[in-house]
Amino acid sequence: MAQHTPMIQQYLGIKAQYKDAFLFFRLGDFYELFFEDAKLAAKELEITLTGRGSDKDRIPMCGVPYHSVEQYITQLIEKGYKIAICEQVEDPREAKGVVKREVVKLITPGTVMDGKTIADKENNYITSVTDFKEDQFGFVRTDLTTGESAVTVITGGIDEVIFELVSSGAKEVIVSPEFDSAFLEMFKQRLAITISFETNEVMPEYFHPLCDGLQQERLISTVARLYNYLVRTQRRSLDHLQKVQYYTASQYMKVDYYSKRNLELIETIREKKKKGSLLWIVDATVTAMGARLLKKWLERPLIDQSEIEERLTVVETFIDQFFSREELREALTEVYDLERLAGKVAYGNVNARELVQLRRSLQQVPKIVQIVKELQVPLVDRLIHSIDHCEELLDLLETSIVDDPPLSVKDGGMIKAGFSSDLDHYRDASLNGKTWIASLEQKERQETGIKSLKIGYNKVFGYYIEVTKANIANLPEGRYERKQTLANAERYITPELKEKETLILEAEEKIEQLEYDLFQTIREQVKSYIRQLQQLAKTISTLDVLQSFATISNEQHFVRPHFTSDREIHIENGRHPVVEKMIDRGQYVSNDVVMNREREILLITGPNMAGKSTYMRQLALTSIMAQVGCFVPATSASLPLFDQIFTRIGAADDLASGQSTFMVEMLETKHALTNATENSLILLDEIGRGTSTYDGMALAQAIVEYIHENIGAKTLFSTHYHELTALEQQLERLKNVHVSAIEEDGKVVFLHKVVDGQADRSYGIYVAQLAELPEHVIVRADEILHQLEGDQKEEGTVENTKNVEPEEQPIQLSLFGEEEKQPKKVHVSPVENVIIKDLKKLDILNITPLEALQMLNEIQLKLRK
Ligand code: ADP
Ligand code: MG
Repeated sequence: MAQHTPMIQQYLGIKAQYKDAFLFFRLGDFYELFFEDAKLAAKELEITLTGRGSDKDRIPMCGVPYHSVEQYITQLIEKGYKIAICEQVEDPREAKGVVKREVVKLITPGTVMDGKTIADKENNYITSVTDFKEDQFGFVRTDLTTGESAVTVITGGIDEVIFELVSSGAKEVIVSPEFDSAFLEMFKQRLAITISFETNEVMPEYFHPLCDGLQQERLISTVARLYNYLVRTQRRSLDHLQKVQYYTASQYMKVDYYSKRNLELIETIREKKKKGSLLWIVDATVTAMGARLLKKWLERPLIDQSEIEERLTVVETFIDQFFSREELREALTEVYDLERLAGKVAYGNVNARELVQLRRSLQQVPKIVQIVKELQVPLVDRLIHSIDHCEELLDLLETSIVDDPPLSVKDGGMIKAGFSSDLDHYRDASLNGKTWIASLEQKERQETGIKSLKIGYNKVFGYYIEVTKANIANLPEGRYERKQTLANAERYITPELKEKETLILEAEEKIEQLEYDLFQTIREQVKSYIRQLQQLAKTISTLDVLQSFATISNEQHFVRPHFTSDREIHIENGRHPVVEKMIDRGQYVSNDVVMNREREILLITGPNMAGKSTYMRQLALTSIMAQVGCFVPATSASLPLFDQIFTRIGAADDLASGQSTFMVEMLETKHALTNATENSLILLDEIGRGTSTYDGMALAQAIVEYIHENIGAKTLFSTHYHELTALEQQLERLKNVHVSAIEEDGKVVFLHKVVDGQADRSYGIYVAQLAELPEHVIVRADEILHQLEGDQKEEGTVENTKNVEPEEQPIQLSLFGEEEKQPKKVHVSPVENVIIKDLKKLDILNITPLEALQMLNEIQLKLRK
């Protein structure tokens, strides 16, 4: 192999230290990539791959211009890559040999601070996991933009770790190089996450105060691994890191990843959109930090009753005090993202505009405090008691920064008059000079009589006097010194003009420098308020979420939930908050839920599309809303405090996720069965669908029995296996309920009303008919059904003969088009239905008696089949 040039050798030396990142190597106005990096980057960024060196030893290369590097970084970060930015760290003109270069920062998906990748309303988490062995793991997550960190011990194995990583939306996970490679393989397969390594797990001295509350050494090491990674890669101030919060799983209602997804708490399953999720329903937050906190609350409902009641009391008060709430919302519109502003202050990259945002936010504080103080509720009192109004900071910002400063901090124009006497002095000098020049123009026009004489400025010649060619004759000889000749004008200067010019330019240079220095000092001063600002951010975002709950509860007619200690559920006229909002107003059919000692398990039957899944989710969502401290969609609601919620959906219902294997369904069910307690809520929606009928039914029955005998959790179990309704006789605490439907003239009408007892049939074929399957199929299916039912009677088997349902079709049935008519319970078979249709269509006046006779014959044959 040929010897590489010194520069390429330098490149290879640096690249060896950043093997898992793209090395952006600065060469003049470009960042260049070489070798494998170049090939991959060219593909990912769709840029041209070129080469360097002679044909034989050509090195693959590609590059991006430094001024548009942001967009390329964003693209790569979004794909989960890391980027090491390598700059020239000495002036090329002074360099002997190859210019010295160093990596100045490592940008990773978990550490990006700004740009398009960071959504205002979402946290950007970087995490670290330590294997404590025996299925226990240390887990910490930090949002570098806001500085918050939370740490916990996860018990229950790697699956739980994966749940946690997914549900926090972590972008990057830091582990020890010794971390089990089988686990890493699982991360890679099941998560879209960047994996990074860090060996150092000793907490640096200066971070000790942040770990005050942590008792366990092993948790401190877990946090240390993450912080050391940040120190090593970020190379900038981490002053805004906040005290690490320790939390235990038992502080919160546990809603695992599958359930969060199934219940569509944060986004919908299929489209991954906020619209259609619970978050969408309850979000009336005004600030971005409020929106982020709301999301966190929804992901971690509380289980401590007094904490929940405290929130509910604030919500109730906000509902009663409409005007205070409106005033608060109004004030909040002026509050910017204090958390992220504090982060930027720490990083030292806050600009003057952002300091104005900070100022405007702080100006709202006294108003906000005044409004909420009058509510006189304990939680709010505590919140406002713990904040510092940062009056001196506000004073500093009000006296120092102009109202509409430029984006750049280098060009001056940021600092207010009166803030610095030196600055004012230079500004005066500059202004005086300019006024003198303006008056000079007047004076010279008068004295020379040349009206078009003017004074101009350009970067090369400075100030000059310009006289058009036509007027030169009128100019007294030797009055000015000639400087430049243009096509139709001459430009002149005078010694006096140059003297003033020097004064002005000097002053302006001084102004820019001084402004920048002053701005730096102000930035440093703001830095000492980071903690107070973070505290303020917490208080304001909490108030924002609580007012949001009140606003929504008021609009949607939600009621305050009550908690029972005897594990009874009594919900009157409960609604599904999302479905209710999606369908036309007033069309939603509300339903009661009654569960108690005799009704621990409700077995729900009813036709496809009747509303079984909706009914089940309605209860789960109501519980979650109650436990985050929001009012709930019902006319009254008493509920226990659930410790966990499990939602499992039969595989057939979950095709879209691409994971619709029976195995996943069973894994999820296992997870529920092994973790649920008698204080949990389990929703099993058509479990067993993903396999053959016998299999599925046997499993479903065994699962229900197991829950009944061994867990005792409140359980809603929907099934299309009608045979299971017989369990009511066998299991004392199981009750049958069904979603009612009526048949009318051979059509099924769903009432969406859940009532006690079992459904009398599946109506699968009717649904198929509604979906307008070819008549042949319908008639044939009915035939087979009759045959099977006949067989069953003969053989006495328990085969589910009615399981001839089609896959769910997006049919929506209008219940209200039919409401005038009295429901009659006449069973009309599909064959009869076809005949009725034919008869209705018949044009009597246009058939012969013979044809009529033939038809009668056909009808009779069909009916006799
Ligand atoms: P199932 O699980 O029984 O097949 P779903 O719960 O999926 O049925 O409900 C099907 C559709 O019926 C829903 O998308 C919704 O539009 C409508 N629906 C369900 N419950 C109600 C209700 N209580 N009131 C009004 N419409 C409802
Ligand atoms: Mg369903």
